[in-house]
Amino acid sequence: MFNYDAPADLLQNKVVLVTGAGSGIGRTAALTYARHGATVILLGRTISKLETVYDEIEDNGWPQAAIYPMNLEGASEQDYANLAATLEQEFGHLDGLLNNAALLGELKPIAQYDAETWRRVMQVNLTAPFLLTRELLPLLRNAEQASIIFTSSSVGHEGRANWGAYSVSKFATEGLMQTMADEEDGISQVRVNSLNPGATGTAMRASAFPAEAPDDNATPEDIMPLYLYLMGKDSLDANGKAFHAQR
Ligand code: NDP
Repeated sequence: MFNYDAPADLLQNKVVLVTGAGSGIGRTAALTYARHGATVILLGRTISKLETVYDEIEDNGWPQAAIYPMNLEGASEQDYANLAATLEQEFGHLDGLLNNAALLGELKPIAQYDAETWRRVMQVNLTAPFLLTRELLPLLRNAEQASIIFTSSSVGHEGRANWGAYSVSKFATEGLMQTMADEEDGISQVRVNSLNPGATGTAMRASAFPAEAPDDNATPEDIMPLYLYLMGKDSLDANGKAFHAQR
């Protein structure tokens, strides 16, 4: 497990956006960032789940969060531009972006892989993070030191039978991360890295491995040290790197 002991005030006065913040790893990351002082923008497609996270942050007395409902499958370029304009008006900058939301799609060999599922998975896992990150880049460049985290996977580093569009989308995510990291290097304070959570007990994991017992895997809480490290100032020197939460 990646080892990092985050100071309690690591993200004080920071504004951080998390996609897929209503459930799974994204939910825990949003709560963890808020607990460490960040104002978290909770982006996701199910408003009721986002509201529950919002309430939990409020009940704990952490900095008030913001809810931004968005379906990454259907969002248009204009929707991303509207989000950027809202954040510009509200905060003027963005200190961190965790691209976390993703779709598993179906586990099938390429020979039988459905084209529509392929399109949906690529949209949510790759095109949406590209559009979101592109639109938010000016705000990230406005921050003193900003961190962009792309969520990867073990099958984004080594292909595995039946992982189809999901695997390919994660390989491409690594490419997007490396390309952006090289582009920002030297011209801005923005750092761009990828994070592979490793096997973690969530709805996605359960749907990929239905036979597993719930406590066979790490919990989202277990892997938070790397999420904190990459979002906070102790990772200022990291750019263009692939990190693994459980190696
Ligand atoms: P979950 O399926 O549990 O959660 C996915 C999140 O993404 C949910 O909040 C979901 O919202 C959101 N989401 C899905 N589709 C959309 C959409 N169209 N628009 C907006 N939000 C959407 O997955 P995990 O928490 O397990 O995964 C988080 C990240 O970690 C993903 O990038 C995944 O690929 C990666 N990962 C996970 C591993 C694991 O073992 N769990 C291993 C390796 C990588 P809603 O709840 O409303 O559906």
